[in-house]
Amino acid sequence: MSRDEVRGAIMNLDAVGSKVRLPARFDEVAWDKLDYLGWRDPRAPLRAYLVTDIDGTASGALLRQNPNRAELGGRAVMCSLCHFMRRFNEVALFAAPRPSADKRQRLSTLGILVCTDLDCVTKVHSVPVLGPLDPPLDEIIQARREGLRMRTVSFLRSVSSTPRSVRGRG
Ligand SMILES: [Zn+2]
Repeated sequence: MSRDEVRGAIMNLDAVGSKVRLPARFDEVAWDKLDYLGWRDPRAPLRAYLVTDIDGTASGALLRQNPNRAELGGRAVMCSLCHFMRRFNEVALFAAPRPSADKRQRLSTLGILVCTDLDCVTKVHSVPVLGPLDPPLDEIIQARREGLRMRTVSFLRSVSSTPRSVRGRG
C-alpha cells in the first residue's frame, strides 16, 4: 500500500482537514507479514489507526484509546482481534467513531479491546510450545493470521455501517 492509499483509507476522521500522520517507519513495513497495519499518531498517542486490505482496497479507521483502564481491572484480557489473552495493561479499550455526514451521529462510536501496542501481528507469529498432537507451526500461524484478518475486516465493516438504533433519532 502506498502512503496515499493508507491516508485515504481512514473512513472516520473526526474533523475536516484532520491529517493522518503515518508511522515513522512506513517505508520499512513488511506488508506480506501484516494482517493489518496499526500505529499510534506520533503526536497524539491516544489516537491510533488501523488499516487493512479488504478485497484489494485499503480500508481503515481512526481509534481513540479510552484513557480509563479501570474497566479492565487487574485481570487478563483477550484482544478482540488476535484473540490472545494478555495482561490487562497490554490490551486497551479503543473507540472508533462511526463515519457520518450527520453531526449527531458522529457521537456514535464502536468500542473494541485491542492489543495496546497494536502488535497483534507479532502475537500471531509467536511460537507456541507444541505438543505431539498439535498441527505443524506454519498451520497454526496460518490459522491465527486468517482469524486476525477476518476479525479485523469484520470490525472495520461494523464501523462503516450505520447503526440501526441511531436512525431516526432527534
Ligand atoms: Zn491483539
